[in-house]
Amino acid sequence: MRTLLSGVTIRARPGQGVVIDGSKLAWVGPISQAPTAKRTLDMSGCLLLPAFVDAHVHATATGLSLSGLDLHGTVSLPAALERIAAHADAHPSELIFGTGWDETTWPERRAPTIGELDAAGRGAPAYLARVDVHSAVVSTALLERCPQAQECTGFDRNGHLRMEAHHVVRRAAQAAIRPEQRLLAQRATRSRAGELGVAAIHEMAGPDISGRDDLESLLHLARTESGPEVLGYWGELGATDIVTDLGLAGAAGDLFCDGAFGSHTAAMHKPYEDAQHTSGALYFTDEQVTEHLRRATRARIQAGFHCIGDAAIDQIARGFEAVAAEFGDLPVRGCRHRLEHLEMPSAPAMATFARLGAVASVQPSFDAAWGGLGRMYETRLGAARAQELNPLANLAAAGLTIAFGSDSPVTAIDPWRGISAAVGHRTQASRMSLGQAMVAATVGGWRAARHPDPAVGRIEVGAPAHLAVWATEEPLAGLVAGLVDGAGPPRCTLTVAGGRIIHGAEDQ
Ligand SMILES: [Zn+2]
Repeated sequence: MRTLLSGVTIRARPGQGVVIDGSKLAWVGPISQAPTAKRTLDMSGCLLLPAFVDAHVHATATGLSLSGLDLHGTVSLPAALERIAAHADAHPSELIFGTGWDETTWPERRAPTIGELDAAGRGAPAYLARVDVHSAVVSTALLERCPQAQECTGFDRNGHLRMEAHHVVRRAAQAAIRPEQRLLAQRATRSRAGELGVAAIHEMAGPDISGRDDLESLLHLARTESGPEVLGYWGELGATDIVTDLGLAGAAGDLFCDGAFGSHTAAMHKPYEDAQHTSGALYFTDEQVTEHLRRATRARIQAGFHCIGDAAIDQIARGFEAVAAEFGDLPVRGCRHRLEHLEMPSAPAMATFARLGAVASVQPSFDAAWGGLGRMYETRLGAARAQELNPLANLAAAGLTIAFGSDSPVTAIDPWRGISAAVGHRTQASRMSLGQAMVAATVGGWRAARHPDPAVGRIEVGAPAHLAVWATEEPLAGLVAGLVDGAGPPRCTLTVAGGRIIHGAEDQ
């Protein structure tokens, strides 16, 4: 059915319209010249933009925190324990699965202990990921389901588990999520994303994160129910078969080369400022990284890694160079391998990635959450290193393709907040221009997933119809300046994904 969106502002010109025909844009122009359409939606005065793409999402965990226990914003350890207790009382003897606690924002400056969690959780199995999801506190009842965790690196008798021990308990917690609980969570995530003008999410699945069943259930939902498109990634060394089997976008995503700063597990060349005994840990050998890239490049599949600290990022850059030496630069470029987070890249690593066509899948909201004076990055790394983190302007200047994501539930799916964090970066030299940020939040996500249509993410005839309409008469620059100053985001009145209305007045 041909649908006319009428009266919108496009590229600062009011009184425009677009016609959607099937999955594509069939017409764009001033409304006085609009062709006839079967249906007209009057959107007078609203702002029409390309829809957003969130290039790094964990749909089930996001949905569980939307509908269940979310510890973001708790102001103290007792306040967090109270919230856990209230949740446990409301859902007796159910698995408690939550995230969002951040001891660096609490006066106690420490994680809950296993004893405190047993008491607050009323003895239920409980898995509570730290805000960066790279470590978690667990209850005795959950540990009893995976006693092998006690033999793993990163085990801690107080119940705050990191590294391999954390991966073991996370698998056990994931296995305890009931299928109907998972379905509701995935639905909640897709509908929230649609309400926020997001037409596609990149799901970062993997054996240690969410499992194959979880990914297959989400892909099935995306095929059968209205909502944003789901571009699936699987992060497992050498696992290119599953990419072909499930029609995934790549053997990339959260294939962990290291952990995260908050959990002291991001791998750096020098020790942590507040934990001099450690500089984090590399989870793979150089040869494992290179072999993954080699195998994917040979199969023309997109590969990629989660990498945060400078040591992890340099390791991947060495892998890129090794594979380029074998195949030549061009085949590597063709794969558009991707890098998740890329928080602490050296200039030579950025140059390698740019030359070899890599995608930087970054989360500007990390800087808003943890950057700046006296906050987590500075606590962990000291001021000098903290200021160098998430160098968005340098990544853009180096020529990498940049895609924005939230890593939800680490930070909320909220593309406007990502854009304002990028243009208002706490380190002035790292700020992106508004134009760069808009591209990274829209087109960037499609390019990152190797979408074949060069017009994708643009508002032009023949382009796939991925659109969002915003209830604001403010020009874009004023709107974003307001967001940087702390104003709330505009309301999304309509989201169109692949020509289908997934959110708005005429929800279908
Ligand atoms: Zn992630």
